[in-house]
Amino acid sequence: MTSPARRNELAENLAAVRQRILRACSSVGRDPDEVRLIVVTKHFPASDVLTLHELGVRDVGENRDQEAAGKVAEVRTTLRDREGGSEAEVLTFHFIGQLQSNKTGRVAGYADVVHSLDRAKVIDGLARGAQAADRDLDVLVQVSLDGDTSRGGARREQVSELADRAAAHDRLHLRGVMAVAPLGADPEVCFTDLRDVADGIRARHPDATWVSAGMSADLEPAVAAGATHLRVGTAILGSRPPLL
Ligand SMILES: *Cc1c(COP(=O)(O)O)cnc(C)c1O
Repeated sequence: MTSPARRNELAENLAAVRQRILRACSSVGRDPDEVRLIVVTKHFPASDVLTLHELGVRDVGENRDQEAAGKVAEVRTTLRDREGGSEAEVLTFHFIGQLQSNKTGRVAGYADVVHSLDRAKVIDGLARGAQAADRDLDVLVQVSLDGDTSRGGARREQVSELADRAAAHDRLHLRGVMAVAPLGADPEVCFTDLRDVADGIRARHPDATWVSAGMSADLEPAVAAGATHLRVGTAILGSRPPLL
């Protein structure tokens, strides 16, 4: 259960972030309908996700399988009981974290979108998992803009090959690219680079129109550089408690 105070906090923060997105769009002449807000709920309980859903949120992001699997199941069960309908249509789960290849089967069973494809093993594992679960997944190739792949993402020169590989699997639908601006880097420069990568992929895969970029601290430059999906956690949910 969410307390009234928490509900208010989430509502206010969400409204403030939506305002930021509107302003960012209007300052560069973009249609706000082209930009989707994914609320990143990692480290926060299922009750917060359900409250966000009541507040109109339809896209939620999680970054660790260990935490996400149970939370997603709990949220979906509650929504199904509440709405008596198909929960998949009312809340889309985005997996945005680094993916170990031994977790791909599980993630393919509950995620709707996976943003973090960065290795052939992960792509093939997700494809097998999706097949086994009889599900379709929207997928993005994560780009490491500074070439340091330790925090996830593929080096730029590998992105096109990975995109082709993902697109070749029946159950995976290649939708575009994702990146996190490297620490200390200029987000404007980073997201402009990402747009170049995205343009290259879209030239080969016309359905790959998504650019997932921008978080609490840098959503404005992401919008300016053409992001279609923003992943915002802290600005809506507050600071994350330290990992246990
Ligand atoms: C946590 C996380 C976010 C959200 O970051 P905030 O700074 O809390 O908005 C976005 N993308 C990824 C990949 C994340 O892990």
